[in-house]
Amino acid sequence: MNLATHYICDDCHARIPLDTPALLCRACGGLLEIHYDLGRASGEILTRAAERRDIGLWRWADLLPVPPGTEPLHLGEGDTPLLTTRLLGDKLGIPGLLVKNDTLMPTGSFKDRGFSVAVGFARSLGVREAFTYSSGNAGASFATYAARAGIAATVLVEDVANDSKVAAISLYGARVLRLRYRSSLEIFAGVSALAEAGFYSFVNFINPVRHEGMKTYAYEICEALGWRAPDVMVHPVGTGGGLWGAWKGFRELKRLGVIDRLPRMIGVQASASAPLVRAFQNGQSTAGPHGDARRTVAQSIAGDAPIQGGARVLRAIYESGGRAVAVDDADLFEAMRLLGAEGVAAEPSAAASIAGLLRARSQGWVSPDDTVVAVVTGSAQKQPEALVRAAPPTDGVVSADPAELLALFGEPTASDR
Ligand SMILES: [Zn+2]
Repeated sequence: MNLATHYICDDCHARIPLDTPALLCRACGGLLEIHYDLGRASGEILTRAAERRDIGLWRWADLLPVPPGTEPLHLGEGDTPLLTTRLLGDKLGIPGLLVKNDTLMPTGSFKDRGFSVAVGFARSLGVREAFTYSSGNAGASFATYAARAGIAATVLVEDVANDSKVAAISLYGARVLRLRYRSSLEIFAGVSALAEAGFYSFVNFINPVRHEGMKTYAYEICEALGWRAPDVMVHPVGTGGGLWGAWKGFRELKRLGVIDRLPRMIGVQASASAPLVRAFQNGQSTAGPHGDARRTVAQSIAGDAPIQGGARVLRAIYESGGRAVAVDDADLFEAMRLLGAEGVAAEPSAAASIAGLLRARSQGWVSPDDTVVAVVTGSAQKQPEALVRAAPPTDGVVSADPAELLALFGEPTASDR
């Protein structure tokens, strides 16, 4: 039983049928959201989802905009581990800290949630060619799913993207164009012109389906917690599709009567370029340009202006009673080391969840008895040069000579014998 009914415009509330690959509202240019007839839902949805773990996040297909009978575009995305922590929770003074490890996605980033569903949806409508823009990770994810779906993909990559991110996009078979620009606002003008000219866009929010995939965070997390929401969810924020998607998922579960309350959403940005944090601090509902996105190591969340002023992301933060916090590069490197000690290798932007949580905790916004989910959005392998910078120095090169090695190791401790 698929419950998706139509697109609805954020601004003028126009309804558009789901059998067309719509992007923005044709009447007013507003962002489109997908509406579900949740009143028709039954408990079978959760039972069916629990029984279909072999198809990852596609097991929630009843609550995704996929026509009945759509073949899952499944490469192993979804159902990532929700890890308890060994040291980190103690260090932060939050014993109930859980880490959602989305570094284990097929392309090494959480973006696969959104692209799996959005590309699958586009394929079902006969879309043959499409584009997106990306700081790197979204491009790799889009290229991968587009290749599997037989959709010709073009990725406009921000010129800050490192060579390995660009190479991955190309390896997955997409056409890559590196973008020269001064502000994110210029990128939005360019991608908007392409969308208006009729090219199907996978740019966050302009594409109304990507965050439908992201909302599966909420389903997976609440299911793992025995159909209860965490008190706090922390997510790095660039354009904010992950945070918005998760928030939509939590609200749907509450409307379904599956959970009885919603989490506070904490969005984390890099201080060098934190338009949403500044808007939050000023109590504004939209954000203007702020800072210089090139002056942070957090490439995947670096952008001086969010799409459409970041209105949805700010709304989620305000409505949930959450926060937007900014962290420095030094905080990100420290958070990478803390996560490494937990067995999770994160790129700097992904470690922002932990760095931001440290900040929020020190400001008294998270209490010791809160259940907190920090999402780690991308693998350290995404940004190898930052991994090298973050890692503690090694003990250097030593001889393989047995006597010299024995001398270096000293005496084994008794318990190891
Ligand atoms: Zn409209």
